[in-house]
Amino acid sequence: MSALITRRAFLRSVVAAAVAGHPVLAADRHPRRLNFVLINCDDLGYGDLSCYGSPTIHTPNVDSLAAKGVRFTDFDTCAPVCTPSRAGLLTGRYAIRSGLTRILGPVNTTGIPESEQTIGEALKSLGYATALIGKWHLGHLPQFLPTRHGFDYYYGIPYSNNMGDRVDGRPNCPLMRGEQIIEQPAIQETLTERYTAETIGFIKQNKDKPFFVYLAHNMPHNPVSASERFRGRSKGGLYGDAVECIDWGVGQIVNTLRELGLERNTLIMFTSDNGPNLGSAGILRGKKGQVFEGGVRVPFVAYCPGLIPAGIVCHQPATNLDIFPTLIRLAGGKLPSDRPIDGRDITKLLTVPGASLPSKPFFYFVTNALQAVRVGKWKLHLGREDRLLPKPELYNLQLDIRESVDRSDEYPHIVTELKQIAQRFVSDLPGGAHIGGSDAPF
Ligand code: MG
Repeated sequence: MSALITRRAFLRSVVAAAVAGHPVLAADRHPRRLNFVLINCDDLGYGDLSCYGSPTIHTPNVDSLAAKGVRFTDFDTCAPVCTPSRAGLLTGRYAIRSGLTRILGPVNTTGIPESEQTIGEALKSLGYATALIGKWHLGHLPQFLPTRHGFDYYYGIPYSNNMGDRVDGRPNCPLMRGEQIIEQPAIQETLTERYTAETIGFIKQNKDKPFFVYLAHNMPHNPVSASERFRGRSKGGLYGDAVECIDWGVGQIVNTLRELGLERNTLIMFTSDNGPNLGSAGILRGKKGQVFEGGVRVPFVAYCPGLIPAGIVCHQPATNLDIFPTLIRLAGGKLPSDRPIDGRDITKLLTVPGASLPSKPFFYFVTNALQAVRVGKWKLHLGREDRLLPKPELYNLQLDIRESVDRSDEYPHIVTELKQIAQRFVSDLPGGAHIGGSDAPF
């Protein structure tokens, strides 16, 4: 037997073993499909969890998911503010494609176009029960609500928790169930606990069919609050209390899945929509609203004992645009072929220790302005024509995660190459996209 045949036989046996242990690919033996719980926090920074080095905020439940699952160290959001980040997450496409490039509020009359397909819609068409618990932020008028865009059930605030005039000292934002306002202004102290309870209720109600819960906490976005039993608990002040309450909720959800016998068959993901406003980006430069790493690199942890081996730390670049294609594939569906999908399936990174994917350009927008481009270790800030960044700056993220030493003079050919990649990408996009500039995100 030649070495080649031996190798082929070996590979066949490895693939067969992987398929047999895979709850989706071995669907005939395991009739249940994977459930998904996607937990997205609002403005939680890269340095705000203990498993990402926070010295003051204690998050044992998320840490446990990371220890028994996979933790990404180089996970980016496609925009450093709420609306475009969420548009990208839910469609797998840069927000410029759906037009949702600015932060929406109660005065806006626009929202997610009918033509977009959300993860909710894609999974619903595959027989999933779908819920959005928490913040939507893709339009609050009836035709834009989650109930019209793929979610069977909705409970939450349709935009940020600081929006609306103040009433009795509170922002006058509505809490909705389905398409009805059930509380206004929303009482925010107990919001995280109520979102957790709603998530658990939905899981229990739908335990006999595949489900997708998108739990989008409004915390720890300003104004931060926590209920009395969580106040004063954290060394990180009220902000830390709010994050620790979210972490408590993660533990409650995991316990529920365990009790229902669904733990091995449910993929739980935990992330944030953008970098911190009030919290910490750890050692990274910048914050929310900026395309420096502090604004765009966010925690991402995934846990599913039936799918993900324990203790993977993934240093490969991945992004929140990848969640759409990954979940659709894991659910056994097909990606839409009538539109560009910017994300890609990262199942391999989730499930195989040490795996990598070919490098792929990633583009950082603020509104319609493409402000940076990254390929592999190189990230080029394209310049904003203002005092903050008057000329392009090049960083080697492998050696310089803090983006502190501009290498553009040393590597002019890399600058040229990345600029060309940026120009080609922008020229293929819908009108309005441009390179550089510093538009306000509202
Ligand atoms: Mg946010």
